Amino acid sequence: MVLVFAEASKGQFKKTALEAVTYGYKTAQVVGGDCVVLTLGEVDDAGQLGKYGASKVFNIANAGFAEFDSQLFAAAIGNAAKELRAKVVVLSHTSMGKALLGRLAVRLNAGSVAGAKTVPSVDGNTLMVTKGVFSGKATAEYAISSEIKVISLASNEIPPEETGTPVDVENLNVDLPAPKVKVLEVNLQSGDTAPLPEAELVVSAGRGMKGPENWGIIEDLAASLGATTACSRPVADTGWRPHHEHVGQTGVAIKPNLYFAIGISGAIQHLAGVNQSKVIVVINKDPEAPFFKAADYGVVGDLFDVVPLLTEAVKKFKAA
Ligand SMILES: Cc1cc2nc3c(=O)[nH]c(=O)nc-3n(C[C@H](O)[C@H](O)[C@H](O)COP(=O)(O)OP(=O)(O)OC[C@H]3O[C@@H](n4cnc5c(N)ncnc54)[C@H](O)[C@@H]3O)c2cc1C
Repeated sequence: MVLVFAEASKGQFKKTALEAVTYGYKTAQVVGGDCVVLTLGEVDDAGQLGKYGASKVFNIANAGFAEFDSQLFAAAIGNAAKELRAKVVVLSHTSMGKALLGRLAVRLNAGSVAGAKTVPSVDGNTLMVTKGVFSGKATAEYAISSEIKVISLASNEIPPEETGTPVDVENLNVDLPAPKVKVLEVNLQSGDTAPLPEAELVVSAGRGMKGPENWGIIEDLAASLGATTACSRPVADTGWRPHHEHVGQTGVAIKPNLYFAIGISGAIQHLAGVNQSKVIVVINKDPEAPFFKAADYGVVGDLFDVVPLLTEAVKKFKAA
């Protein structure tokens, strides 16, 4: 049986959770048995996860799940996996999943792969799992031969697929340790657009913008597309933009369907976090800018001329 932990934020399932359930369903088809989903704390309409392939959804209720506590969450998922005799445990490769994977692997004496990008294949008792390595420049195949396997799924690799119908949700009781950590405060990023790690459209800008006062044209383009804004590291370091927008090797790694790089040179450390984007559009006045080598589409021109024209064109296209 494959057990999927479906992450929720304020009771709502994220796209990454739907991807994980779809992945769990496909993995169960390969390894045999059902795809069972586990949710923690108060969540809305967990039975809907049946549409993505869950044959059953279990929920563990505990006031401690209101905020993320990696020790408590790992104990709950680990004990549920033991109780339900799961052979494979699937997580999302989000910041929560990254914090849980190692703890769970230790608890379950399991081999683990972080950031898988393909549905595993089976070779006897061994699962073969593929993931991107060296900032996505290469792909590596891992063989997990432990009795229980823990896998986190990289985001935007397996699109959510509706294959079934809603299912029942059952309460599950497992032993939980007393929390050792108390969350005092959580400051959530506000805004209407998707957070960067989940964004499908990203408009990003760099030092070519000359200063923070010019960001209006980037925000206009992003708003016309419904995209999330991002920036290069020096832009965040100098305080032109908030740090949570910084993408790259030392920032957020993203995999949107469309990435606009505006006035960004394309240094290797920047590319490391964005080169998994499906389509990259570069706008730069320097035809020799290294980013053009990674671009699917490039515009050589002054961003202060090009970006407003692009925004206008997007608005006209959408209106039509
Ligand atoms: C250990 C380490 C880790 C790092 N991690 C990261 C990271 O995670 N993310 C990251 O981004 N960087 C990172 N860096 C920094 C990285 O090496 C580059 O310095 C940085 O990405 C450059 O930012 P930029 O492209 O915005 O600026 P620049 O390199 O200054 O490029 C500005 C670009 O704008 C273009 N331009 C200027 N004016 C215009 C105009 N009017 N119209 C059109 N184009 C114009 C220029 O031609 C140029 O290509 C890291 C560096 C180190 C050493």
